[in-house]
Amino acid sequence: MEKNFLSTLTGSFAMPAAENPTVAMVEAAYRHHGLDWRYINCEVAPHFLGDAVRGAKAMGWAGFNCSIPHKVAVIEHLDELGRSAEIIGAVNTIVRRGDAFIGENTDGKGFVQAMREVIDPRGKSVVIFGAGGAARAVSVELALAGASAITVVNRSRDTGRTLVDLLNGKTGTSAELRPWNGSVAVPRDTDIVINATSIGLYPNVDQRLDIDLDSLHPGMVVADGIHNPPRTHLLRSAEARGCRVLDGLGMLVNQGVIGIKYWTGVDVDASVMRQALKNLFQA
Ligand code: NDP
Repeated sequence: MEKNFLSTLTGSFAMPAAENPTVAMVEAAYRHHGLDWRYINCEVAPHFLGDAVRGAKAMGWAGFNCSIPHKVAVIEHLDELGRSAEIIGAVNTIVRRGDAFIGENTDGKGFVQAMREVIDPRGKSVVIFGAGGAARAVSVELALAGASAITVVNRSRDTGRTLVDLLNGKTGTSAELRPWNGSVAVPRDTDIVINATSIGLYPNVDQRLDIDLDSLHPGMVVADGIHNPPRTHLLRSAEARGCRVLDGLGMLVNQGVIGIKYWTGVDVDASVMRQALKNLFQA
């Protein structure tokens, strides 16, 4: 039998990179599906980003992920952008098509895919806490998925305003900004509540969202972007009040599933990837 010793390469460029668990999740999927593909976790300093992208192209990489601090900076090194990446203004997944590197953003797509297992966002009213990169990706994809209204609650007014203007200007969904001064009550007619801030992320697991937990009602879906730990204080409180909940592992796993589909064309088993992460975080 003819042997092939040339694996197809993918990976991640970030700084820091050591605590990024994506490699464990993606390689679990490659192994499970018998794909002779590798995912190399690389620490790339900002001033070397262009060299790294050209290196990946020279070595025939099928694509790669970009994480902090490269999600915006990588754009100038790419050949094209997908539609939502263009609106969001940030890229987390690069896909090789022929000789071109195309920038996509799967953070929000992964979130929406995970959300669809619980509720279809079409026609739904959303309250999102945060207006950083994750909130931007998630709210743009929810808007493109047909959410009827999005209320952004953010600590810094300017960043919140920028996101609201982006949603109103570039999507068909109406968005409004609510100041976050003191404990915020979620309006009764809200369908979906999302924490897209970094509050609750390990090691600050006791840090809490300043939100009136008694304004969460059964019928609302409450989602948290925090994947470590997956069962955050917000999700435990929401569950105790009868809400359906969605953890950050769903977003992380599904953005990976979508990325691997872009690269390999294979629909990989999300449960294998979720289990790989659960083993890491002992969730
Ligand atoms: P950014 O730094 O871009 O944004 C952070 C956001 O959190 C801002 O809106 C910031 O508000 C807000 N924030 C931070 N601390 C506080 C605080 N003490 N009180 C109120 N608001 C606060 O980060 P990202 O958007 O990239 O990431 C946010 C989180 O999402 C991260 O923890 C990350 O782990 C998670 N994430 C999860 C993914 C997944 O796949 N599960 C994918 C991507 C991200 P302000 O504007 O006022 O500073």
